[in-house]
Amino acid sequence: MEKKEDKLKEVISHAKEYGFVFPSSEIYDGLTATYDYGQLGAELKNNIKNYWWTSMVQMHEEIVGLDAAIFMHPKTWKASGHVDAFNDPLIDNKDSKKRYRADVLVEEHIEKYREKIKKDVAKGKKKFGDDFDEAQFLATNPNVKRNQSKIDELEGQLSKILESDDLEGLKAMIDDLGIACPLSGSKNWTEVRQFNLMFATELGSLAGDAAKIYLRPETAQGIFVNFLNVQKTGRMKVPFGIAQIGKAFRNEIVARQFIFRMREFEQMEMQYFVRPGEELKWYEYWKEKRTKWHKALGLGEDYYRHHDHLKLAHYANAAADIEFDFPMGFKELEGIHSRTDFDLRKHEEFSGKKMQFFDPELNKNYIPYVIETSVGLDRMFLAVLSASLKNEVLEDGSERVVLSIPPALAPYKVAVMPLTKKDGLPDKAREIIDGLKFDFNCQYDEKDSIGKRYRRQDAIGTPYHVTVDHQTLEDNTVTIRDRDTMQQERVSVQDLHRIIDEKVSMRKLLEFIEKH
Ligand code: ATP
Repeated sequence: MEKKEDKLKEVISHAKEYGFVFPSSEIYDGLTATYDYGQLGAELKNNIKNYWWTSMVQMHEEIVGLDAAIFMHPKTWKASGHVDAFNDPLIDNKDSKKRYRADVLVEEHIEKYREKIKKDVAKGKKKFGDDFDEAQFLATNPNVKRNQSKIDELEGQLSKILESDDLEGLKAMIDDLGIACPLSGSKNWTEVRQFNLMFATELGSLAGDAAKIYLRPETAQGIFVNFLNVQKTGRMKVPFGIAQIGKAFRNEIVARQFIFRMREFEQMEMQYFVRPGEELKWYEYWKEKRTKWHKALGLGEDYYRHHDHLKLAHYANAAADIEFDFPMGFKELEGIHSRTDFDLRKHEEFSGKKMQFFDPELNKNYIPYVIETSVGLDRMFLAVLSASLKNEVLEDGSERVVLSIPPALAPYKVAVMPLTKKDGLPDKAREIIDGLKFDFNCQYDEKDSIGKRYRRQDAIGTPYHVTVDHQTLEDNTVTIRDRDTMQQERVSVQDLHRIIDEKVSMRKLLEFIEKH
């Protein structure tokens, strides 16, 4: 089996080679952890957005969309708690001058004990073969038990320190564990400091603190501050939701793992406003609905797991992550949060405007409670790309690289290819595209041998490949090749629209989410 790190490298190089993702401003050697989406990446990204928007807004009559500005009044971020508390603890190594997240240094140290356990398990498996009972081994092996209790002890200590914002305690932990800078090997550290993750900039002609504004670190606040506008003008009744897709910015200390953690990224968020006391019912509802949205794509059930938060943010009364098995292992893809009435209450306090809803059935005013679903568009992109990229060995022993992207998300739905550049075949191919292009993104491809063209389309994930040959001119039939099965069939040009539509339509995915 291929190693996970190799898989991430493979995804990055495939994404670059075929025009999905480029390093930003590459001609100037790029900018760390910043990426541009290329010609195919922009298509895939748009299709993911469209899938999310259709399923959240179009399929729910009680959910409407919004497109708020990235800049917001600075008081927004005071009210939301971001100015005071959206911090990561950072530490610098005095010799290498490298900056780290102090908590991550400790977590990585703890991870070493986990690696030891994994190694012991692997050894046990090798030694005992089929008789190996992993659960029993984990519960009884003395080495494993010792490492596990070390993990528990250190994790307990770390979470206490983080909960109480004990920066000195964090520094002491780094010293006590003898953690060295991975780059210089030195233990010559600065103190630990809080680092606010918001990017600040200045507004126009004003100077100083009065003009200081932030690039939004989440899209959610644009929804909260518009709660009354949307509720009133849209005549919305609780429960109702507001959905938004947009850029968010966080000055992450350590941005890495390709498009998984960036400083500029895109979120797809929905805030669902409910009656106080009904929030946990809706929390369960959205946790399940959003999980179905992911599973409908058919990447495989094993790619997902839930991680329920035991330790909650002060404003939340339930929270879970939908995690995805990325090439780096299981990591957060989407967060589902029950945020109580924290945000609206804070905005009421800071703005002096009532953020309440009059519920005609209960005949009273209240600040609604909120369930939030928040998924990173870039992480979704990475999830789709990494699960779809496959190296297949075919029956004849040859190999192919195929990107088995869910057809509804594929950048191109069909490639139309004249067998040769002569005899009017290109004109016929273009005529076929002219009939399909109103509904499907089509690609015309006449360069190289037909085999090479098939491989190229496999590698960019085009679900159908249509070849126009001399017979086409006689009886208006073409061969259509399926990306996944590689089966070819002779069909009439008139049937192409129906065949392609059946495969690439988003309808099946949406029905799956509705029904199951
Ligand atoms: P993490 O723990 O990975 O930093 P988070 O818990 O801070 O994530 P949220 O604030 O819940 O993330 O944001 C919601 C979603 O936005 C995440 O589930 C993730 O998909 C996405 N996201 C957050 N930070 C980044 C980032 N730096 N780059 C890309 N996507 C991000």
